[in-house]
Amino acid sequence: MTDLDRRIDQGVGRTPADIVLKGGRFFDLVTGELVSSDIAICGDTIVGTGESYEGREEIDISGRIVVPGFIDTHLHIESSLVTPHEFDRCVLPYGVTTVICDPHEIANVLGTEGIRFFLESSERTIMDIRVQLSSCVPATHLETSGADLPIEALLPFRHHPKVIGLAEFMNFPGVIHKDPICIAKLEAFQDGHIDGHSPLLSGRDLNGYLSARIRTDHECTNVPEAMEKIRKGMHILVREGSVSKDLHALMPILTERLSPFLALCTDDRNPLDIAEEGHLDYMIRTAIAHGVDPLAVYRAASISAARAFGLRDRGLVAPGWRADLVVIDSLESCKAEMVFAAGRRVTDALFATREAVAPVGLDSVKACIVKAADFGVPVTEGETPVGRAARQDHHRICRAGCPRATTRPPSISTEHHQGRRHRAPWQERQPCQRLRARLRAEEGRHRLDRRP
Ligand SMILES: [Zn+2]
Repeated sequence: MTDLDRRIDQGVGRTPADIVLKGGRFFDLVTGELVSSDIAICGDTIVGTGESYEGREEIDISGRIVVPGFIDTHLHIESSLVTPHEFDRCVLPYGVTTVICDPHEIANVLGTEGIRFFLESSERTIMDIRVQLSSCVPATHLETSGADLPIEALLPFRHHPKVIGLAEFMNFPGVIHKDPICIAKLEAFQDGHIDGHSPLLSGRDLNGYLSARIRTDHECTNVPEAMEKIRKGMHILVREGSVSKDLHALMPILTERLSPFLALCTDDRNPLDIAEEGHLDYMIRTAIAHGVDPLAVYRAASISAARAFGLRDRGLVAPGWRADLVVIDSLESCKAEMVFAAGRRVTDALFATREAVAPVGLDSVKACIVKAADFGVPVTEGETPVGRAARQDHHRICRAGCPRATTRPPSISTEHHQGRRHRAPWQERQPCQRLRARLRAEEGRHRLDRRP
């Protein structure tokens, strides 16, 4: 029996479904309704909604809402400072089931070896990692990072199943002024997908850029810019990352009317922000908290994103669609409680099934060996603001009674290291916690004193 046979049998209800989610509701991104219904899954595909089903495995999701998996439409995984495998493990549990990445940073150093590493990783992660071929390596002729990727180097990857097209075409002056290297790359992808990157480009220059069949932009920072680009057929990827933050400025365009032409992207969040705030779920809950229509933002996070990149199999909770599903507590808080990636429930055990990928670029940092002494900052008492600050801090510590403090004036480079060398961390913990509590109490008192 083929997969297709099994899907039809399970959809019709002839045989029990592989998995059935029972007792919840799903967010229909076509009508905007919350629909009470079982969701039947066969393999990697949803096979039943709107009916009740029997399943070999039945999961009670009473009181929960199911939405389609989120799609980050533009990011550079390297900028999250982890490998694709680790990114998969850390970000998929937030409901991000697909990411469309440009391995620009690794390609900029390692060239095709970096792209090959990403493609190999993308074949093994649970999350669906799609790769855009880095279009501007090096980004300018002034870069000295080492790699150079002309069109001949990119073409062998073009038909890899994980490749969508050409990544952000950053060199917009090169397009407008018809730089031969840019033209060769654009020419080779005229029948494929080309991502844009054109901050503040407008008028005839934008028209010329778009005439090269460039289709998306994640660089809009204000509403008039985004509106001109939408009117001219661009799909706008609303970005909120650790560095570039455009969500608040672009919230006015996150409407039901425009949502088919919008998507979300991070263009990189660092690990701390991911751990403290989340990933695309953070964008969704922030937008809703500021009055954005949930239908508009959930569409942008899934179906509209999928359509912009030709991923025709995902983005809706409906029979025949890829079972990338996020079970959340409410539309407003968007807290992922359970995630399914192509029908597989995301757990630590699932991540443990992935094969590792051999690391690359381990010898790519060409720096001299440093010694401890290289980190020393010689300070003469009373000479610099830094020395003064350190001395004040030292006296504050003395007053607060930390056992580590001495009456000796500190030297930034040695004081703390010397103290630590003689004490194991667990010996320090108690006194330092007490010290911190005391300082916090003191600070609180000062604040209270300053109150009108
Ligand atoms: Zn980027």
